[in-house]
Amino acid sequence: MSPYWSDLAASLVPYVPGEQPKDRTYVKLNTNENPYPPSPRVLEAIRGAANGDLRLYPDPTCSALIRKIADYHGVSPEQVFVGNGSDEILAFSFAAFFNPTGEPVLFPDITYSFYKVYAGLYNIPYRTVPLDDEFRVPLEALGEPNGGVILPNPNAPTARYVETELFRDVLTRNRRKVVILDEAYIDFGGRSAIGLVNEYPNLLVIQTLSKSRSLAGLRVGFAIGHPDLIEGLNRVKNSFNSYTIDRLALAGAAAAFEDQAYFEETTRKVVATRERTAAILKERGFRVIDSAANFLFVSHPERQASDLFGELKQRGVLVRYFNQPRIDNYLRVSIGTDEEMDVFLRALGEILKR
Ligand SMILES: *Cc1c(COP(=O)(O)O)cnc(C)c1O
Repeated sequence: MSPYWSDLAASLVPYVPGEQPKDRTYVKLNTNENPYPPSPRVLEAIRGAANGDLRLYPDPTCSALIRKIADYHGVSPEQVFVGNGSDEILAFSFAAFFNPTGEPVLFPDITYSFYKVYAGLYNIPYRTVPLDDEFRVPLEALGEPNGGVILPNPNAPTARYVETELFRDVLTRNRRKVVILDEAYIDFGGRSAIGLVNEYPNLLVIQTLSKSRSLAGLRVGFAIGHPDLIEGLNRVKNSFNSYTIDRLALAGAAAAFEDQAYFEETTRKVVATRERTAAILKERGFRVIDSAANFLFVSHPERQASDLFGELKQRGVLVRYFNQPRIDNYLRVSIGTDEEMDVFLRALGEILKR
């Protein structure tokens, strides 16, 4: 605690990302990055932008990238916002759509831990809605009076997906409040709710290029919703920093939407590796939650997750362990290449034998 900090800075409880260790090389299955590189076309576009005019500010309206995303998803450019990673859009959303007074914002008790952090930053009251014992989202409870709703679909870190159509009821019962679906993992098996935005002006769908498009290092995400919601986000953005997306990111992100074949191939490979890994873990006695994401959420009936985490780390395999109520006996394992998953499974085999 420093006397120089504002009361706000002193009160914050920041998000803690998965480790990015530099002490040795790990098989890194702890931050849900894509094991495959981005499309070669993305790298080419970034090189082109680097040879362009970095002396000049980037386009603050991101119009070319927005048009690309709008075309790709069959919406109009007025329905698209792009941000410096979807985390930034989530942060802007708390400021743009949720209020410090009135009903609390609702999100699941087990979910992306950044929501709580943003609520703290903007002083937004929230109430967590408990998932059931199978980690299913209680959609009923999300319709109770609220100041807004936010959740990932598929959820993180559980990996569970809720059929998109099932959100209609939540959207109808919250007509006057914004419902945010964070679709960071939707490309690994779910169906996006983007198709519902024209019917529900209170629905904001947020996606990222970090996971399915292998661009976590570029920091680009986007949101799709009613033009009023997009304008709300732009009001916050332009009160903060008009140039959140740099020239390299604008070029690389646009190119990512031009290589559909590459996107489909890498996504398909991740899904195939996920299914193979899940089957092997089940054979070995693990409880494996059904996953529609690029990670598995698993628990062993006899071995403590915290011990498995430590033993895997000693063997050079990093996974994610959350020391939190209800999930402190689970590990979240990102899907790597088949070779990486074999290293993980071999290490796990050694540990379980002892
Ligand atoms: C990874 C992740 C994000 C953040 O993605 P960025 O675009 O890299 O900021 C957002 N929401 C969830 C649930 C995630 O897992």
